[in-house]
Amino acid sequence: MATTTHRAAVLHGPKDLRVEDRPVPQPGADEVLVAVRAVGLCGSDLHYYEHGENGPNVLRRPTVLGHEPAGHTVGDADGLPAGTPVAIEPAHPCGRCALCRAGRYNLCPQGTCFGSPPTDGALTELVAVPRDFVHPLPDGMDVKLGALVEPLAVAVHAVRRAAVEPGQRVLVTGAGPIGVLVAQVAAACGATVTVSDVAPARREFAQRLGLASVDAAALTPDPARAHALAAPEGYDTVLDCSGVGPALVSGIRALRPGGTAVVVGNPVHPDTELPLAWMQRQELTLLTSFRYAAGDFAAAVRLAGAGRVRLDGLVTAEFPLERADEALRTALTDRTQLKVLVTPGGADA
Ligand SMILES: [Zn+2]
Ligand SMILES: [Zn+2]
Repeated sequence: MATTTHRAAVLHGPKDLRVEDRPVPQPGADEVLVAVRAVGLCGSDLHYYEHGENGPNVLRRPTVLGHEPAGHTVGDADGLPAGTPVAIEPAHPCGRCALCRAGRYNLCPQGTCFGSPPTDGALTELVAVPRDFVHPLPDGMDVKLGALVEPLAVAVHAVRRAAVEPGQRVLVTGAGPIGVLVAQVAAACGATVTVSDVAPARREFAQRLGLASVDAAALTPDPARAHALAAPEGYDTVLDCSGVGPALVSGIRALRPGGTAVVVGNPVHPDTELPLAWMQRQELTLLTSFRYAAGDFAAAVRLAGAGRVRLDGLVTAEFPLERADEALRTALTDRTQLKVLVTPGGADA
């Protein structure tokens, strides 16, 4: 541990990612140093990489990307012997405001998140993390799959928001990584789940996980019937994980009267037109879901540990840290990928 620098993948501007030396982080009193073994790439990383911005958040100075990390603890920390495999919760709230105190810390106005500029992320060898945001992995779980706990926590939060109940008929639109995780969590809650996607390969993957799937085109409502009432045999709940407006609307049109729609995927277009009058006539509920809050990460770890959600098979490519640029380009351009991982070597515990 004599080294004073470590390697980090730093975004300087759109498509300008450089792997550089940075000072080794010095953990504070309530922080744990983690040697990063795997970081999943997701849509927000790709937005920053391609455009230098993601929604209202703009890259104004060079920032380390990455917010889906797992690794091994370095040195003994409170309740965590050196070398403990852990998943890292990347969004850190203030802990004091009314929303934090109510457990809704995903909404904290003072919160920061790894890899959301200007906060540096986890595409590095070493990262310092507040102790409460370090989650030990279940025995026997591959530390690399720990990188999937973050998207799994997104899924847990969304299914909680939807209040999915046993026996419900649930539709998940979009069978990317978040979609198949949301579908598996809903199935673990006892729902009968169908996923839809335009891509046959993604539907086939969902089927291999034991989920029913339909072509998204089959859900597109007939314009001639746009004013017809919702079918009583429609879905109880739809969770849109595609971020595509027409998919959300198709899902809403597939609900039964009184059903619930949940926006989970980041909307590609910030303003989406909804059939509001029709929704009111059916007394539908529209909810949104953002990241994860109290208890969601812990639940995600338990679901993965109990084998109730399968994470294997979601990882479709791995790149070492020095090739982080290639990893981002692959995730951006290769539509056959589900989850691309970057695997820093890290300093050994
Ligand atoms: Zn993500
Ligand atoms: Zn707060």
